[in-house]
This record gives sequence, structure tokens and C-alpha cells, in this order.
Amino acid sequence: MSRARELLHAVFGHDTFRPLQEEIVQALLSGKDVFALMPTGGGKSLCYQLPALVREGTGLVISPLIALMEDQVLALKELGVAAAFLNSTLPPDHLRATEKALREGRIDILYLAPERLLQPRTLALLAEVPLSLIAIDEAHCVSQWGHDFRPEYRGLHILPERFPGVPRIALTATADARTREDIRRHLRLEGAATFIASFDRPNIHYAVESEDKGRQGLLRFIRERHAGKAGIVYCLSRRQTEETAAWLAAKGIPALAYHAGLPPEERAERQRRFLHEEGLVMVATIAFGMGVNKPDVRFVAHLSLPRSLESYYQETGRAGRDGLPAETWMSFSARDVALQRRFIEESPASAERKRIMHAQLQALLAYVETPRCRRQVLLAHFGEKREEPCGRCDNCLNPPRIEDVTEPARKALSCIYRTGQRYGVGHLVDVLLGRTTEKVLRAGHDRVSTFGIGRELKPAQWRRLFRQLVIDGHADIDDARHGALVLTERARPLLRGEEKFFMRVANTSSRQAKGKGRSRARADHDRADDPLAALTAAERRLFDRLRAWRTRQARLQNKPPYVILHDSALIEIAVLKPVTAQALATVSGIGDAKLARYGRELLALVKEHLNEERDTPS
Ligand code: ADP
Ligand code: ZN
Repeated sequence: MSRARELLHAVFGHDTFRPLQEEIVQALLSGKDVFALMPTGGGKSLCYQLPALVREGTGLVISPLIALMEDQVLALKELGVAAAFLNSTLPPDHLRATEKALREGRIDILYLAPERLLQPRTLALLAEVPLSLIAIDEAHCVSQWGHDFRPEYRGLHILPERFPGVPRIALTATADARTREDIRRHLRLEGAATFIASFDRPNIHYAVESEDKGRQGLLRFIRERHAGKAGIVYCLSRRQTEETAAWLAAKGIPALAYHAGLPPEERAERQRRFLHEEGLVMVATIAFGMGVNKPDVRFVAHLSLPRSLESYYQETGRAGRDGLPAETWMSFSARDVALQRRFIEESPASAERKRIMHAQLQALLAYVETPRCRRQVLLAHFGEKREEPCGRCDNCLNPPRIEDVTEPARKALSCIYRTGQRYGVGHLVDVLLGRTTEKVLRAGHDRVSTFGIGRELKPAQWRRLFRQLVIDGHADIDDARHGALVLTERARPLLRGEEKFFMRVANTSSRQAKGKGRSRARADHDRADDPLAALTAAERRLFDRLRAWRTRQARLQNKPPYVILHDSALIEIAVLKPVTAQALATVSGIGDAKLARYGRELLALVKEHLNEERDTPS
């Protein structure tokens, strides 16, 4: 372990282990098999990279995606580690050179896809090479229950027979019990030491809009809180990604669309741009995700409803891997909800599977609607109990009230019924408010019993109520009839007065004071939380200078900027202002290789800054 600690510092530039890393490394060093569950950004790679360096031989890493391998190998090489990958994209001479290096024991860590590993030729090659360990990344790919089932992963059960005595580690960020069992069974890890980290992501702020703010709301969120930052916006349909990306770009936000309908080269190019450029927004379907381990994604927004809480947590988990503050945002329409219900109903799945999918959607909607701390609800869903509210999600910062809206709800449902279940929300609201619009008069709806019975609420309040009735399943939206609202079975008991209806409302004690108070609370909170926001003006200037240097380096070397140095390292340098190599080496993320490579330039930048600051009276 002392060697491991030495390399943690010298190679990776970190002072301390993250939770469970030390225990996992120790288990592998003592030759045990390991099953590790850690959230995204928890620091899984170090768990196998470090012992692979300490133990004799080459460490094999099995990874499902080429992009993922390339990224990891690039980052390892930056750290001075002899890393390589074998995959189908390599030209034959390169392949031969890698195989030769492997035979000569010159490769510390080798990445490969399962199908490659399982080829007889590869197995024969690896039989000649001493192996330090075998890591199976994204191990949930072995399970049909996960979203990313890859049949090739099933073949990995032969590993313990083929490579007896080589410790294996399976890693995943997917937590549910069934997937875990599948992983243990299919990978023959029944006897493995299991480590489960907390799934909390303390640096992620969770928030959900309580009405459909649409892309205008998204634009405001990006402009006000994340101008110039990288983020991901998830949409339901391909068309929505294209339209939204074009719209954002027209508003001056650099954005790209990404979905499975694009040709593979185009997808690869857009993903490359997202990684290499700073401040790009990717507007994507769920096709974009796995393998995108860009550490400085500052926000993940949902412009429509995710499919389940599991997907939501995975998708939002792509924000803030670097540990710096990151935010989530979600806005969706009642139509999204109706659409998802219809997807499930019309899918060819078995009745049992449909029941599960409905339950998953319900759990997601319960999360959206909860007045409780969102982090508590999320963690509880993954079987983790958290005693205290987090104090920093939208509900903690601005607790909503739950109001009894049974009477207005009955009026709303009754209005749907009286007008023949053929109209959308706009018209229904007009009828309730007693507006004699042309459409109302033409349909004779000024004579129905619900005409003008709803003057106690404002139009926006009615619209929210209708949305809520759809979310809670009392009404449905009929797309075949231009978005007409129709009643469901669930409407009956409410209409008959046998049930009550409650709705979450934002806390509106003095609207303006609230708005101000909230933004002030938010600003204080940001400063306390965000090391970047906490920089003094002078430190900020140094940070900008360092960042400009990093951008130049990244362009020069054709690498993503975060591979050169993370934002967190730049912030640390800006605060510390080191003038000696020794001081610079204490910065997290600066190991021996980076010190040798960039040390002189970084120190020169700091000195330049200090000189200039001395010359400029503050
Ligand atoms: P995961 O694969 O679990 O999503 P990574 O292995 O990509 O996470 O690590 C996430 C981030 O945490 C990386 O940027 C990595 O540099 C950083 N990291 C990992 N271990 C440590 C540590 N012990 N100290 C500081 N930073 C760490
Ligand atoms: Zn909270």
C-alpha cells in the first residue's frame, strides 16, 4: 500500500484517496476479486489503474466503447503511464506494434472491447503475457435489466478459467439490485469483495420547474447561470434535438444536436467537438451519454421527461464529474407525460414489463412533484437513507406548499366533460373564466354549466391545474384529436366527491421579496460552494490566464483541455500562486509527468501575473 500511496501522488497527483478507493486498491493488491459500485465521478478508474501499476504485469481493462478507451488511454499517457488499446480502428502496423510491446512487457495498462478480448487470437496472445489484473468497466452491460445490455459481455464468464489467479474487478455506477445480481452471476464474481459507495453527488444541485417553461426557460437558465459553460440538454425526439440546437445557436448559445439518426462519422465528430471545445452545449437524445466522461459538464437539462428516475440519475450524473458545482434543470409538458404513457401502452412488451415501466414513470413523477428534499428522495429510491435534508436543492432553498385544490379540480374535470372531451387546455380555460371568444360562442359553450364558474383562479393557475390533472392521471391528452383533454377512470372518484386533490404550489409570500431573497440566498450559496466564484478579482485574472494557456496547449496537441489539466487544478494554482516546482507539485492533478511537462510554463505564468499585479495598484 505504501507504493500505491506513492504512485497516487507521483503519477496521479492526488494527495488522498476518495471514499472506498483505498479499500478497493488494497483488496486487489492482496489478490482478491472485487465488485465496486460507485456513482459517476466517484473515481472508479483509479481503483484499477493504480493497482495495475503497482502489481507486476499488464492490467487489462474491458470497456464497451472505443471513444471511452481512447479518452482513458490519452489521459493515462498524459500522466506518463504506458497505456494502449486494441480495437478495430487501429491500422494493422499499429496493431502489430502494440502486440509486440505487450509481449515485451512494455505496456502497463491495456484497454480492449469484450469482443476483441474473446477472439481466440487475442486470448492466445494474452496467455503469453503476465497480467496484473482484469478490470471490467461498465459492468452493468452484462445485464439485460440495464439500459446498455451488450451480449458480448456475457462471454466474459470464461475469464477466471482462462486467467486463473488474476484478480478481477467489475465496476459500475448502476445500482439496482437485480442488475447487481446479474453482474455477480454472469461474471462469476459471487465470491468477490463488494464495495458500495454512497450514490450522493454532493456537488450537483437538483431542481425541477413546476410548470412547462419550454425552451425559453432553458435559454434563461443557460444565460443566467451557465453562460459560456459546457452542458447537455436531453430531449425526447430527434427532431426536438435539431430544432432546439438550431434555436439556441440562433440565440447566441453554441449548441450541437446529437441523436442516433446521424451518420456515425457525424456523431463521432460532434462528440469530439463537445470534448475538445469549451462551452459547447450538446442537445441530445439518450443516445448521447455513455462514454462521455468530460469532467467539466456544468449542467444537465431535461427539456422533456426522462423515462425513469434511474435514467434521470444517470443522465444528470454526467454533470460535475470534476467535483466542482454543477446544476440540473428540468421542464416538461403534460403532453410529454401522456406521450410516455402511450409509448408504454403501445410497446410490444409483456403485461408484466408494462406494469414495471408504468411504475417507473410514476416514481419519476413522484420525484418531480415532491415537496421534500430532492436529494433525500433520489437517494431513498436507490436504497440509501439520508437523515437530513440537503439544504441546497430547489425544495430545500424554497420549500413549496401543498394546497387542497379539490374544488377547482372538480370544476376543471367537469368542464372537460361538459364540452365533450374534444378541446385543449386553452379553450377549457376560456370556458371556465367565462370568456366569450369566437370559439366559445361558435361551440355554444357559453351555455354549458361550467361557463364562467372558475373566476377565482388566474389563467396560469388553471393551466397548471390541468397539467397536474394529466400528471396524476385524472385526464389524458388525445393526440389524435389535436391535444384534446379526455377523462380517465381515475377522474370518477374525484368528480363524485369521494377523493381530494392536492397540488404543490411555489411559496408565494410576497412574490417580489421571495424572488429577491431567493436569488440572494442562491448567490451566497454559490459563493460558499463554488471555488471559482470564490476567487478574488486578481485570482480570477490569473485563472483566466491559465485557462487561455490551457486552450492553446489543447489546440496545439489536439487534445481536450481537461486532459491537460482540470479546472480544479487551475483554480488551485490561482489561489496558491506557487513560484517553486515543489509548491506546484502539491496541486491536485499535478503528478511527476505533468510537472516535468508543464511545470516551467505554469510557474512562468504565475510569476508574470505576480509581477503585473505588483505594478498595478489595486
Ligand atoms: P468515474 O469513472 O467513477 O466516473 P473517474 O475515474 O472518471 O470517475 O474520476 C472522476 C474524477 O475524479 C476524475 O477527474 C479524477 O481525476 C478525479 N479523482 C479520482 N480519484 C481522485 C482522488 N483520489 N483525488 C482527487 N481526484 C480524484
Ligand atoms: Zn434538498
